[in-house]
Amino acid sequence: MAVSERQLRRDLCEVGRRLYQSGMAVGSDGNLSALLNEEEILITPSRVCKGFMDPDDIIKIDRKGTKLSGILPPSLETAMHLAAYEERDDICAAVHAHPPVSVAFTVAGVAMPRCVLPEVEVLFGGEIPVAAYATPGGPALADSIRLHIREKDVVILAHHGMFAVGQDIYQAFMKMEHAESTAKVILYARQLGGVNKLSEASLEGLRALRQKLVATERAVFCSSCRACEPGGAHAIVERAGAPVPSPAMPTVGAPMPEPSPDDRLEALVREIAQQIISGRG
Ligand SMILES: [Zn+2]
Repeated sequence: MAVSERQLRRDLCEVGRRLYQSGMAVGSDGNLSALLNEEEILITPSRVCKGFMDPDDIIKIDRKGTKLSGILPPSLETAMHLAAYEERDDICAAVHAHPPVSVAFTVAGVAMPRCVLPEVEVLFGGEIPVAAYATPGGPALADSIRLHIREKDVVILAHHGMFAVGQDIYQAFMKMEHAESTAKVILYARQLGGVNKLSEASLEGLRALRQKLVATERAVFCSSCRACEPGGAHAIVERAGAPVPSPAMPTVGAPMPEPSPDDRLEALVREIAQQIISGRG
């Protein structure tokens, strides 16, 4: 069912609190938005700590960024959120923050290695793109994400932060958490002596698993889209070029007695689905 404006405001505050507590948005860093309907967007105010927002602090704007209600000015990065909604008609929410490890890779000029973590292959289709540096708050930053966000749900902003989109604000936040966690693992691996790549056979299995995950996420999120009625414009909207497996919820059941590599991959899908469900508070 469509979520009420009040609930959507609470959701933005809740995810803002989690973002602040996770260390991915310190001080007044970060901004969050969600589609209220086809014409209106809720977005966080400028220069406010996202860890301590009240639902009444959230600003309502139109699709061009004009403020419709609220006391404070909307986020300085409003243009980036508007750009994402212009590029993607299958998303209802967006999150921007400054995850420190992911940003550190870009500051150091170190590319994230590919083919080393199942999460990257399964959740992000093999890579998390990096948008060229652009001045925060300016139109160049909004334009810098357009090409990337058309194809990917998460993009790292060089020397700055990260931007993630989702079918609701919890999903967008979860994707950012996974991306930052990936950066941490790679950093630790480098500190421990190096990064070893997965075998081609393993990667093939992960690509197949990604198709299942796409279906799982669609089933989980489209079943209770936070901004749209079931069967509405955002229900099971396919991305151009994306393979469309039949939606099927994973079975959360007893562990297998002798897990094979495939079983472990299946377990990863189940775990991700559980995180999706439990993370929505
Ligand atoms: Zn920023």
